[in-house]
Amino acid sequence: MSKRIYNFSAGPGTLPVDVLEQASRDIVNFQETGMGLIEMSHRSKEFMAVAAETENLLRELMEIPDNYKVLFLQGGASSQFFMIPMNLLGAGKKATHLNTGTWAKKAIKEAKLFGDIDVAYSSEEQKFNRVPTSDEYSVAADSEYLYMVSNNTIYGTQFSEFPETDKMLVCDMSSDILSRRIDVSKFGLIFAGAQKNMGPAGVTVVIIREDLLDRTPESVPTMLRYKTHADKDSMFNTPPCFAIYAVGEVLKWLKKQGGVAAMEEINKEKAGLLYSAIDGSDFYRGHAEKDSRSLMNIPFNLPTPELEAKFIAEAASLGFNGLKGHRSIGGCRASIYNAFPRQGVVDLVAFMAEFEKKNS
Ligand SMILES: *Cc1c(COP(=O)(O)O)cnc(C)c1O
Repeated sequence: MSKRIYNFSAGPGTLPVDVLEQASRDIVNFQETGMGLIEMSHRSKEFMAVAAETENLLRELMEIPDNYKVLFLQGGASSQFFMIPMNLLGAGKKATHLNTGTWAKKAIKEAKLFGDIDVAYSSEEQKFNRVPTSDEYSVAADSEYLYMVSNNTIYGTQFSEFPETDKMLVCDMSSDILSRRIDVSKFGLIFAGAQKNMGPAGVTVVIIREDLLDRTPESVPTMLRYKTHADKDSMFNTPPCFAIYAVGEVLKWLKKQGGVAAMEEINKEKAGLLYSAIDGSDFYRGHAEKDSRSLMNIPFNLPTPELEAKFIAEAASLGFNGLKGHRSIGGCRASIYNAFPRQGVVDLVAFMAEFEKKNS
């Protein structure tokens, strides 16, 4: 194998190399069946076992209660922006949303097609550099749920505490699922595209409380009803077999690291290294306010756009890939998901110090 570089991409993001190597073998010949995983019937006993194991591992690692269904869907996290209100809001019903970034805003736009959407908080005027505490907004009494994005991938903000409300939470965890412990029972629905912190692109995990499956209006098409997929264990039609398999391999890897609680400690320490470097310098400036900082995505700026371009180019030549910030805010961004190695952060911090010395 050629030398592996440090991949700071925000998504698809870096995966454990052991998982990639195992997948490359299984794609050609799965469990000595003489055929590859991606050419095998999704109803074969081998693949059914893969799907069941992936679900069971997710249940175990996230401590998902028995009254929740786990679905493996297609259409990306973005399709949940409309599937959620389509299934959970009937005509005239209300939902409350928190506008904390690009993905939150896109979800608001779609939800407005289906119900009465109350945007109780927005940090858009501050370039989404913070998330609110629970006393900064109120949730309308007649709202069905409070919709939020737990980690704002582009702006590098994250809710360190989930909202305190008696309403059920509906949460986009695309970029921080499995990065820290959460209490699933506070949520009506959790969803995440796999490609940030959980596997390859192609599958979206939906964790939904069972009693919500019966709310869907009659007019919703079969494929867009959660119940269709829940009743058939995500095998109503051909599921994204390879992506489900790969998520399963990532979950096995995560379990070996000590599970979600161990990963949470690793993530805090890892992100702390980079934040200390930013805080200890006048050359680098973080985008997010301190108490809203994300452990997964860390956007930062240098004194000028020219220096940022030079920084990104020099870093790339040394094997630090994917440090360019999202086009909507520019600057730099280091995404350091679960599978991103600690040594990569240590090496980046050393490079940052050197770059500062040469260029300030
Ligand atoms: C990447 C991302 C999405 C969009 O995911 P797709 O699978 O590309 O639709 C949605 N929400 C968050 C928080 C994301 O980071």
